[in-house]
Amino acid sequence: MIPFNIPPLIGVEEKYIQQALKSQKLSGDGLFGKQCQKWFESNLPARKTLLTPSCTAALELAALLIGIQPGDEVIMPSYTFVSTANAFVLRGAKVVFVDIRPDTMNIDEALIEAAITDQTRAIIPVHYAGVGCDMEVITSIAERYSLYVVEDAAQGMMSSYKGRALGTIGHLGTFSFHETKNYTSGGEGGLLIINDEKLVERAEIIREKGTNRSQFFRGMVDKYQWVDIGSSYLPSELQCAYLWGQLSCVSQINRDRLAAWKSYDEQLQSLAHSGLVELPAIPDDCVHNAHMYYLKTRNFSVRSALLDYLKSLGISAVFHYVPLHTSKAGSNFGRFIGNDRYTTFESERLLRLPMWFGIEQDTQDEVVRAIYHFYAREN
Ligand SMILES: *Cc1c(COP(=O)(O)O)cnc(C)c1O
Repeated sequence: MIPFNIPPLIGVEEKYIQQALKSQKLSGDGLFGKQCQKWFESNLPARKTLLTPSCTAALELAALLIGIQPGDEVIMPSYTFVSTANAFVLRGAKVVFVDIRPDTMNIDEALIEAAITDQTRAIIPVHYAGVGCDMEVITSIAERYSLYVVEDAAQGMMSSYKGRALGTIGHLGTFSFHETKNYTSGGEGGLLIINDEKLVERAEIIREKGTNRSQFFRGMVDKYQWVDIGSSYLPSELQCAYLWGQLSCVSQINRDRLAAWKSYDEQLQSLAHSGLVELPAIPDDCVHNAHMYYLKTRNFSVRSALLDYLKSLGISAVFHYVPLHTSKAGSNFGRFIGNDRYTTFESERLLRLPMWFGIEQDTQDEVVRAIYHFYAREN
């Protein structure tokens, strides 16, 4: 059996979790939490970062922070995870979906302007597979129309666009440390990256249940109290201790994943040359993090057949996402602007191959052999 994913584990995480247990301080923003945030602030770098229980929570915090109100509109691709949309729908916003580019599966920056109305408040680019959207075009449109940019960089840690880390280019950015992502904080976790100085103070308040507790601990106010709306968006120290272990080995994990990605890519080239599959494209402006390796079959029915074939050999390949505008909630809470030229068609032929930190060459070879065998049978 070849699984689709194995959560990243270096080995040092256990030691840090033990340390956190011994410290008898397990709630949020303890030693490990603070250490992780400092790491991100100096390594991304970023003005301010706040750990959250998930990327979903970070997106919700972002929607609260930029003051999304009922009737507001936010623009995003339909080809994304439900949390990208939910965070804004929870605040009463209408989601406006635009088509993707077939080469990167990212929002087509050329279609954004036509989707802007008087109600538009924000653009939410999703960096699919850790490959950057065209942020130059997106930030210039946002500036022209005074819109916020919230990057859903759930898959984008250690990736960059024109030399800048994904998540640090818009006003706000979010990472996920879910066990399926490149780095995990023990199953669930996330990060809010605050690049707009004006949003820093309120971000801390909303994350701390609407209190000025963070300012109190810095000695800036003499008592802490309820000052704004808020919720609880802090991960526990145990999650942060796991993440600290991963952060201490970031280059090792990144190098290993890139090597695995390259191995798939090289071995599948000849199948791509014969026109049977399409492989991911990395634009020149982007450095990626090997978050996933996918291929595209000719169409939906070939993908189903390939999936079944791999499954019969014990290989777990998966597909995602069902375009949000075609889903029940998506059609209630959003609308698609322009033609769905690529979103549905491309999503129906994309197949993700098994990929994790530490995947063995033999395992990858077995997956590749199975794919070649499938196409040899087909023809
Ligand atoms: C994984 C993912 C999320 C959600 O992350 P969680 O940490 O599981 O909440 C959001 N958006 C995208 C694009 C993702 O891939």
